[in-house]
Amino acid sequence: MTVTMLNEAFAAAGAAAWGGLPFSELAEDMTAEDMAKAEQLCPNPCTVLVAAFPYYAGDRPGNLSLYARGRDYHQVVTGRLNTICYILKEKYPNGIYLPAADNSPLPERQAAWRCGIGLRGKNGLVILPPYGSYVFLGTILTDVELDLPPRTTSPDCVGCGKCLAACPGGALEEGGVDLSRCLSELTQKKGELTGEETALVKTHPLIWGCDICQQVCPYNAHPALSPLPEFREGLVDALEGADLEGLTNRTFRDKYGDRAFAWRGPAPLRRNLELKMPSAPVEGLP
Ligand code: SF4
Ligand code: SF4
Repeated sequence: MTVTMLNEAFAAAGAAAWGGLPFSELAEDMTAEDMAKAEQLCPNPCTVLVAAFPYYAGDRPGNLSLYARGRDYHQVVTGRLNTICYILKEKYPNGIYLPAADNSPLPERQAAWRCGIGLRGKNGLVILPPYGSYVFLGTILTDVELDLPPRTTSPDCVGCGKCLAACPGGALEEGGVDLSRCLSELTQKKGELTGEETALVKTHPLIWGCDICQQVCPYNAHPALSPLPEFREGLVDALEGADLEGLTNRTFRDKYGDRAFAWRGPAPLRRNLELKMPSAPVEGLP
């Protein structure tokens, strides 16, 4: 299969950019455990394809991170990559083709940067003008050796440091992201939050995720809108208490199962909503 044919297949799947590299080149970005997992899924892994799918739908008010408002990107990106897997399977019927989005042992961002997709942001994100960092990444792991386009490593962003300065949790450092202080992680955390975590979530405007290091980035000043209908239509911009009232885990899944904020169930969302409520009046005071 030629690079031109793959170009056409990725464009038809809605990818704004794609690249590919030998699996062996990702070894230094992976733990031994992740390597073993990848080899368990695909014995003799040979090639990794990686693609970026834009999701920006405009500047809309809400209390959910922009990435979580459209249809669940795991399902959407995997479905779109599957169309490429079908084409590859027709051409090389004996091959294994594993599409994934944010749920495989492969280091997607490092794969993208090694293929020269976009820029390497200090905020740890792939920045792909004109879509900014509002892109989902997906990969296809295969045991087939494919013709790949030429590539050079992604350059760094301009390094203005605005993301580091604006991060409310102080999670961004020159070396990367400290996930234990990142609100994107903390708003998704199950169970009890520590006092420090509670204070961070309480003052943050979103109940799911955190867009701050993206919003301050100059590459995201005027991002192009996503051409993909799953991320542009039928958006859930915000959740209020009434939206979750009376829902069991099952009925919550029935209602919101096609959304990326649903995977933890309703409990973290309810907890985060409660944290934003004004404190109840203290008994005995007027
Ligand atoms: S998502 Fe929010 S908390 Fe996490 S690194 Fe970015 S600005 Fe900091
Ligand atoms: S805010 Fe500045 S330093 Fe951070 S990712 Fe964007 S361009 Fe790079």
